[in-house]
Formats: sequence, structure tokens, C-alpha cells
Amino acid sequence: MLNIRGAKLINGKQCNIVIKDGYIQDVTEDDVFGGDVILVPEDVFVSPGWIDLHTHAFPKFEPYCAHPDTIGYKSGVTTVVDAGSCGADNIQDLYELAQDCKTRVFSFLNISRIGLQVLNELADLSTISSEKIYESFQKYPDLLVGLKARMSGSVIGENGLTPLHMARACAVTLHKPVMVHIGSAPPKLKDILEVLEKGDIVTHCFNEKEGNNIFMDDPILHDALQRAIKRGVYLDVGHGTSSFSFHTAQRAKQANIPFETISTDIYDFNRMHGPVYDMATTLNKFLALGFSLEEVIRRVTEKPARVLNQPQLGSLKKGSVADLTFFKVEHTPIDLIDSMGNTMHVSMQIKPYAVLLGGEYIVCRNAYELKESD
Ligand SMILES: [Zn+2]
Repeated sequence: MLNIRGAKLINGKQCNIVIKDGYIQDVTEDDVFGGDVILVPEDVFVSPGWIDLHTHAFPKFEPYCAHPDTIGYKSGVTTVVDAGSCGADNIQDLYELAQDCKTRVFSFLNISRIGLQVLNELADLSTISSEKIYESFQKYPDLLVGLKARMSGSVIGENGLTPLHMARACAVTLHKPVMVHIGSAPPKLKDILEVLEKGDIVTHCFNEKEGNNIFMDDPILHDALQRAIKRGVYLDVGHGTSSFSFHTAQRAKQANIPFETISTDIYDFNRMHGPVYDMATTLNKFLALGFSLEEVIRRVTEKPARVLNQPQLGSLKKGSVADLTFFKVEHTPIDLIDSMGNTMHVSMQIKPYAVLLGGEYIVCRNAYELKESD
């Protein structure tokens, strides 16, 4: 038994957490005796382990590459979801890498069998093989959580919506969602939205790409977005190097557009040189936008667990997997930068402190140390 004493929940209550055989047995304000005790400093919060729904956790394919543990537990993230770095031809490599990682790894399989070996992976339709996709899901049912289709002009070439229709057809057979990357047209965002079904995910939702973002002055797009959200399509942040705009996010907040998850689209370059740096920095941007600590933390715990259909994660309920993230909220002001080079000021910062993963309590190094050494 593991007895975590004195951690603060996001509602401010100090609690003790009892863990048995890797699962949460109790979260209580009462004293608990026995077991191996971890004493948490008074100013440290605890939440379910953070889940980053959009990362590039496959070190082999440059430039969108990173090691799962660097962007994972070392920066407070207990689960990383690789968003389509690998297709059927290379998913075995990611599977093998994941076995050696402390961080929990999932993957959205790129519908192109070659994945991000090239950056226009959907320009040649012969790289999309439903047979290979089904084979991969059969082989790696615990790793694969859905399909990824990068639907922007530079990726799809002349193929229009065809890759997305092919992805959707496979998704129906597999009963899995499709994560769609949106970017520069073609295809037009309104046409992409019409294809998506309940449970699918639109990542890079707050980009400000010219002519194709959610705030185009286009009533047809507006209508398509509202209908997609109503059908149960999820919006995911997927910050990335060029896909997060404070301006778009601010407008979305004013318009009450419900976005589900905060993810980073992190890889080595935007981790070391910004504007992403790490998950905590991405969360801080949402504090700067005026979201509460609770709203922010739910979008990196409970909500991604729901999107991934992994109810054993993202929760402190009895019986949940005991992945935990410990963090501080420091009242030190900082300027944060978005993908457009705009800055916002925030007076407090979330900073990862430690994680509990696989029964091991590991104190995190901060992002700046990582920047120097990894
Ligand atoms: Zn990405």
C-alpha cells in the first residue's frame, strides 16, 4: 500500500490518497495509517496524471520527433498520445519504444502507412491501405486509440477530401475515432467538418491560418462547426509551432465555443525553442486567457481520458489507475508567447513537481533544465 499524505486537490482540500496494486483505493481527508508514506509539501497540488492528446513521441522521424519520456513524465505528463507520427509500416517501432518508457504511450495511427517519414504523406493515395490499418489495430490493440489524418493542403496534394473519407470508412469498421489536423486550405474547414462523426477530434482548433480557421466570416462554416459540435465532434488545442493563436482562443471563449482538450503538439524543436516548451506552459496560456485552474486541469485529465475512451485514466475515483501529477501554482508573473508571436501576461504559473507512475514517485525536472540537457 502507498499512502500519499497531504496533497492538495484542485478544489483546495488537503487529502490523503491510498493506492493499492497500482489503483486508487481511497481519497480522504481522514488520517490514513500504514503503508509506504509519501509526504507531499503543503503547497503542492495533486491531479489525475496529465494526458497530452497530441504529441510527436517518435524520435525517429525528423523534424516532428521527441522521446516519450522527455515530453512525458519528466515534464509532468503521465500519458502521451502520439498523433500520427507512425503509420502501419513503423508502428511496431513505436510499440517497442513504448515498452521501454515509463510514460504511458498511445497512438493515433497515421492512415498513410509511411506516417511522417515524409511531410506530404497523404499526397499519394497508394500509401493508404485499409488492410494494413486493420492489421495494425489487431496487433497493437492497447497502443492504438484511433486514426490520424492531416488534412491540409501541403499534406494531401491534389487529393481533396478523399483521404478523410478513407479514414472515416476504416474508423467505422474499427469503432475508433479519427483525429483530423486542420491547417491551410484546401480542403476547406467547413467541408472537413461535414465528414466528421461523434467522437472524432479536430486538432489545432485555435489556429489563425489565413482563410481556414474557425472564425472565418462565413455563415456556412459557422453552421457546420455548430452542427459538428452538436454531433459530438471534439475540439482539441494541439498548440504546435504554428497552430495556436491567443486571438482565436479569446474569440472562442467570448463565443462560448466548447473545446474539449488542451494538448501541445510538442516535438523537440518547439520544446526547445518555443512557443510550446511543455504542457505546463500550454496550460498557463489558458490561465492567462481567464480559464480557472479547475477548467484547465480537467482538459488535461478527465476530458482527454473521455476522448480516448480510457475511463480508468484521468480520474481520482476509487478503482482508477494511480497515475498522478503533482504540481505547484506559483505566483510569479510571466509573459507567454503564442504561435503568432503575440504575448500574454499571466500572474501565476503551473509548474510540474512530481508524478506517480507505475507505483513510482518521481520528482520532475523543470522545462528549462530539460532544454539544456535533453
Ligand atoms: Zn502534430
